[in-house]
Amino acid sequence: MTAPAPRAPAAPAAPATSADVVVIGAGTAGAVMASYAARTGASVVLLEAGPDPGPWQPLAWPADLIDADRVATSHDWGYSGPAADGRVLPFPRARVMGGCSSHNGCTQSIGWRGDWDAWGSSSRAWSSAELGRHRAHAIKRLRIQQPTVADLQPFQRAFLDAAVAAGFPHRDDLLDPDGGQGVAISPVNAPGSVRWNSAFAYLDPVRDHPNLAVRANALADRIELTSRPGRASRPNQAAAVIAVIDGRRTRIRAGQVILCAGVYGSAETLLRSGIGPAPDLRRLGIPVAANLPGVGANLHDHPTAIRSFAAAPSLARELDHLHRVPDEQVVAKLSTGQDPTGAPYDLHVFPWTERDPSVAGGWRVVVPVALMCPASRGALRLRSADPAVRSHADHAFLEDPTDTERLAAGLAGLDPILAGLPLGEELGEPPSRPAAAWLRRNHEHYWHPAGTCAMGDGPHGVVSEAGTVHGLANVRVADASIFPDVPRATTAFPTVLVAERMAEITFGPAPAPQPSAG
Ligand SMILES: Cc1cc2nc3c(=O)[nH]c(=O)nc-3n(C[C@H](O)[C@H](O)[C@H](O)COP(=O)(O)OP(=O)(O)OC[C@H]3O[C@@H](n4cnc5c(N)ncnc54)[C@H](O)[C@@H]3O)c2cc1C
Repeated sequence: MTAPAPRAPAAPAAPATSADVVVIGAGTAGAVMASYAARTGASVVLLEAGPDPGPWQPLAWPADLIDADRVATSHDWGYSGPAADGRVLPFPRARVMGGCSSHNGCTQSIGWRGDWDAWGSSSRAWSSAELGRHRAHAIKRLRIQQPTVADLQPFQRAFLDAAVAAGFPHRDDLLDPDGGQGVAISPVNAPGSVRWNSAFAYLDPVRDHPNLAVRANALADRIELTSRPGRASRPNQAAAVIAVIDGRRTRIRAGQVILCAGVYGSAETLLRSGIGPAPDLRRLGIPVAANLPGVGANLHDHPTAIRSFAAAPSLARELDHLHRVPDEQVVAKLSTGQDPTGAPYDLHVFPWTERDPSVAGGWRVVVPVALMCPASRGALRLRSADPAVRSHADHAFLEDPTDTERLAAGLAGLDPILAGLPLGEELGEPPSRPAAAWLRRNHEHYWHPAGTCAMGDGPHGVVSEAGTVHGLANVRVADASIFPDVPRATTAFPTVLVAERMAEITFGPAPAPQPSAG
């Protein structure tokens, strides 16, 4: 796989205080939405709270954001919240152009067809068929490739072999919604080991459009709402976005606002705009524009149990001599046999390696198992109306007892695979049986929060099938916050599919790509 050729830098965008479309957040979904908006010819302002290192250029971007072999840690928002036992867990989120697609693990998967179909059950607007129409295009834009066994580093190869020896078939079907139980080499958006983020994939081809203004270091505070004259006493449409841009408070008049600030940021922005559970808003002195209890509710992630070990000395020596050691390359999809939907799998096992000087041999290997369809639901709550203050994110990990039962089954299911791996001593507390108390003390998450602006009409519903916030014609949400249930997948590719579909609903079918589209 070779790195793509660099593109020439675009001229700096002119400041704009008015736009047909204001997109908040230039992350995984926001880059997609802004690119399609720009192609319509409408004036578009894209606001990103973090910095913009510009279009793809090898030396312009911080090295850790480019290196696809390991998850990047710079540019973090600094979110945290409680684990099941009250420990404080960090919840990394990237504050930079491309959002989490600029620091994530690059594993791409689509999840199970049945989950997508259940989501779109009323009108089929969000069924697997509708989303699947965008699959090939998203794969192409993100430059996703399917590595082979020859590309695997020794521990990942050992994991693949151990899973097959334990009875799970090797099937590279992570991007197939009909994929089944088994072990797969991860498709990755990493040409030449470059993390090909959503900004490179979608935004670079339109950066030179004169109707698009990209504003970095632009923290959206709130959406200013108004009433359409003679129509309603309550505010029912967006008039402007209030943002702090390079330290200056700025008002941008907006014909339409599209929130792509991610699962924490989109809900926070709605709450600061007075859209959310009325008692919570009043407590913070925020005037209530719309009592929408679902905003911030329904927060959940894939709870994950982790076993870690020192690498066996022979493995450590082998890794030491390699020029390149990608952390993550293989995912096993396993089943607890307890899934009421009949899905073929409800667990992911996603092993990785990391250098650890405190461990004999210098290498730690980590074998996590994640429950892919948790029942527990938590909430995101503002601590302050000040956009500089991070909200409190409680994912209610393991609150529903079925999550504990199923994750415990997943943990037990690791044993036959672990038996075939080149492992040294176990690091951390070995699991106890029954596992419930151990899980509460030791669980983590899979970096896949979802659901705070869920699509639907029920008590947690925030947006319609057209993506508009209930009661507001010209405010949409398009990112991982609109999943009513987190997909049985790593969430980057599903988020891109959501954005592709939402762009089609919002702006109509995409025009044919122009020659400059890259
Ligand atoms: C460490 C880590 C590893 C991961 N690994 C994988 C993986 O290997 N495979 C996978 O599929 N998924 C992975 N994920 C998950 C996946 O990347 C996310 O689910 C997905 O990228 C979310 O996309 P989004 O558009 O909803 O949000 P984001 O990509 O987070 O975009 C939100 C954007 O909005 C900006 N923003 C937020 N608030 C404001 C505001 N008020 N004003 C202006 N801008 C704002 C943010 O800075 C950000 O750029 C990982 C996540 C993390 C954190």
